[in-house]
Amino acid sequence: MTHRISVELATTKRPKPDVSKIGFGSCFTDHMFMMDYDADKGWHSPQILPYQPIMMDPAAKVFHYGQTIFEGLKAYRTADGRILLFRPQQNLKRLNRSNERMSIPDVDEELALEALRQLVLVDQDWIPREEGTSLYIRPYVFATEPLLGVAPSRQYKFMIIMSPVGSYYAEGIHPVRIHVESEYVRAVAGGVGQAKTAGNYAAGLKAQEKASEQGYSQVLWLDGVHRKYIEEVGSMNVFFRIGDKVVTPELNGSILAGITRDSVIQMLGSWGVEVEQRRLSIEELFEAQEQGRLVEAFGTGTAAVISPVGELNWENRKIIIGEGRTGELSARLYNELTGIQRGELADPFGWVLELKGTVSATS
Ligand SMILES: *Cc1c(COP(=O)(O)O)cnc(C)c1O
Repeated sequence: MTHRISVELATTKRPKPDVSKIGFGSCFTDHMFMMDYDADKGWHSPQILPYQPIMMDPAAKVFHYGQTIFEGLKAYRTADGRILLFRPQQNLKRLNRSNERMSIPDVDEELALEALRQLVLVDQDWIPREEGTSLYIRPYVFATEPLLGVAPSRQYKFMIIMSPVGSYYAEGIHPVRIHVESEYVRAVAGGVGQAKTAGNYAAGLKAQEKASEQGYSQVLWLDGVHRKYIEEVGSMNVFFRIGDKVVTPELNGSILAGITRDSVIQMLGSWGVEVEQRRLSIEELFEAQEQGRLVEAFGTGTAAVISPVGELNWENRKIIIGEGRTGELSARLYNELTGIQRGELADPFGWVLELKGTVSATS
């Protein structure tokens, strides 16, 4: 497979937004990446081109049967002007695991990494420099075959778009209040919960709405069978410090395997903090709270990195965790992880990938 990506540069450059004033994911860079798949040719025609709308057949399978997956990662600009990605190879591995689950053909991970590299370099002026900001990168694959029949599509597109994003914590890191959902469920083992696929998020909107109406910003999902065991929070994995251990739900087939989750487990291990990956029931958590052993809780994900949890509400039983303040481990993890991501701290785990060079138009 050749890795030659054709590049067409935008003739006009759009003005860069003030990232402190725009919402997450509302503004896109000058270019995008696109590659097509046909059953008889495989993946072909990788290209970088000006950001623009695409034509879709109204019968495209993605609209009707939801065969699509996505990824999310960030590029950071260091104080001395370097460009860093955080563990991008892990995102591409997960992209193919999601593809596999959704019967979508594999993408060549080396080619995808080269596409990421060239696209970020082409639009490197779009990586904001202010503290806490970054360039959010969204790779995704979707079925384009125009056919109303439930079978894997014979045509797909793989695209990458990018969006400058402001600091998640413009007013400083602060704990969120969370609604524990006991009616709706997100996923079940054997389903598609471990794939980053669109339908999981559409299925979660109802509970999210319910939580918002009650003044909560996120939903904590319980398992789909017993409505008892903790799964994850919105688009974050979740950790609890109980006594002198940290507990997080094990990857049981219905939870998304977060890259931030994995990084936190490795980092805590390196600090000598014991991390248990196991089933954890909501009752156990409320009991630990009563006994004064629930010290802190936090979510992990690319967008917020670490999101401390200050309150849980489960069937009108409310608990305030750590007096509603950011816990000691949450703060330390946030500082160390974002420090590594922005190239301000040493990277003992080899997590960051520096992007270098320039990209010019091909003819
Ligand atoms: C993306 C995502 C996460 C977090 O994964 P990261 O790789 O850490 O960003 C967790 N849960 C769900 C449901 C997700 O979609």
